[in-house]
Amino acid sequence: MLIVAGSDSGGGAGIQADIKAVTCLRAYAMTAITALTAQNTEGVFGVHAVPLDFVRQQIHLVLDDLGADVVKTGMLATAEVITAVAEALAEADPEGRLPLVVDPVMVAKGGHRLLAEEAVEAMRSVLLPRATVITPNLPEAEALLGGGTIDTVERMEEAARELKALGPDAVLLKGGHLVGEGPLVDLLIDAEGGLHRFEGPRLATTSTHGTGCTLASALAASLAQGLDLARATGRARAYVAQAIATAPGFGRGHGPLNHAH
Ligand code: PLP
Repeated sequence: MLIVAGSDSGGGAGIQADIKAVTCLRAYAMTAITALTAQNTEGVFGVHAVPLDFVRQQIHLVLDDLGADVVKTGMLATAEVITAVAEALAEADPEGRLPLVVDPVMVAKGGHRLLAEEAVEAMRSVLLPRATVITPNLPEAEALLGGGTIDTVERMEEAARELKALGPDAVLLKGGHLVGEGPLVDLLIDAEGGLHRFEGPRLATTSTHGTGCTLASALAASLAQGLDLARATGRARAYVAQAIATAPGFGRGHGPLNHAH
């Protein structure tokens, strides 16, 4: 599979988390890196953009030679990168056969923006309509819908259906940001509009750096291996839960997950 995303020098999120998850799930990871971040568990301290032609070149070269069964996007940084990635994918795969998992990464847990605010419109209009499945968390869903807050599971279902209307075949809306005592709820609206509800315990830990990247990559790897979307989601959630439960506790901030569990 091809991962189009940003590098995390701390190894907890981004490309590094993606490669670990994909490898541990026994798929093969290729990468087109969109940005380098200088970061550790305490936050993102710098972002170094990759030139657009070089982003395109990475995508073209690997798809042309090695091929892929699925593409996953993570941090895309700017509207220009979003457009370049969409164009490169359209050139490499004109009929849109390659399944595309879009994790609409916007803001890191520490508050640093990983997608320019003015790029949300490009995410909505350029990439979402091409996606097989998108995996927003609640703040990302709110930004994409440009509406009110999503603060209940009922509202989550409405929001997931509104997101599907923007063009992706399916939507996995992650409820980790819902405040309250209840279990963690994620909702999947599949390509036929069917609703799947996933529940799990909320783990009391700060080792949650890269959970979004890891979930989307585990989902994409599972799709590449032939699982249907609901099964792929279940497997990806279980993988992330175990990776959090056995996290090594490195760093002073939001620590990385354990992939080799
Ligand atoms: N850094 C990069 C390059 C990322 O792609 C992401 C998430 O998608 C993050 C950091 C943020 O990770 P988290 O919000 O889990 O700390």
